[in-house]
Amino acid sequence: KLTIARAKEWMLTFNQRIQEEKDHLTELDQAIGDGDHGLNMARGFQEVVKKIEPTNYDTLDALFKDVAMTLISKVGGASGPLYGTAFLRLSTALKAESEANREKFVEGLKAALDGIKARGKAHRGDKTMVDVWEPVVDYVQSQSTIHLSQLNELAKEKMEETKDLEAKMGRASYLGKRSIGTIDPGAASSYLLFASLADCFQ
Ligand code: ADP
Ligand code: MG
Ligand code: MG
Repeated sequence: KLTIARAKEWMLTFNQRIQEEKDHLTELDQAIGDGDHGLNMARGFQEVVKKIEPTNYDTLDALFKDVAMTLISKVGGASGPLYGTAFLRLSTALKAESEANREKFVEGLKAALDGIKARGKAHRGDKTMVDVWEPVVDYVQSQSTIHLSQLNELAKEKMEETKDLEAKMGRASYLGKRSIGTIDPGAASSYLLFASLADCFQ
């Protein structure tokens, strides 16, 4: 299940992965965007960790609300408001809970995905973070037992599949067919988000 300690651990691990992959995320965004995705995410999650690590939380929604507000206020570009909306919806779905069982957490992730889609208007296949989020949420909704290795594998595969897609949303869409051949930066950071999950579904 998702506890406050695990939620914090998730965000701390994700931040670590983002810092490690910052240059890679930047390279992807240099190829098909404006080259700031690594920096946006690294700066945003550095601030997230600075905020949540020393804070004692009684509820999951308070923690994820801090994550959301930090991203919305510190990260410009498309990814700040989109990830911010995702964590805000997750927060709302977990209102007043100090821990969330699998069903509840899955519900929260579904709400987060719906938030990303409502805000960004992207559909699956548009070469955005939705191409990782949607299959991952479908997977956790459809399985009675969630295997982290399978979830990880799926997220990775879906991230890699964005390489062959033509971007229909965001800056990469300005390139049209020239956006084909590069993995979407937001799909790559979303893969890291799901790869950072520990036993939150158990
Ligand atoms: P910006 O494009 O404003 O510089 P970032 O580089 O931080 O912002 O983030 C780019 C990523 O945001 C893209 O790779 C894509 O995954 C995601 N993205 C952009 N527009 C949308 C959208 N409308 N819906 C969903 N995701 C989007
Ligand atoms: Mg960018
Ligand atoms: Mg930008």
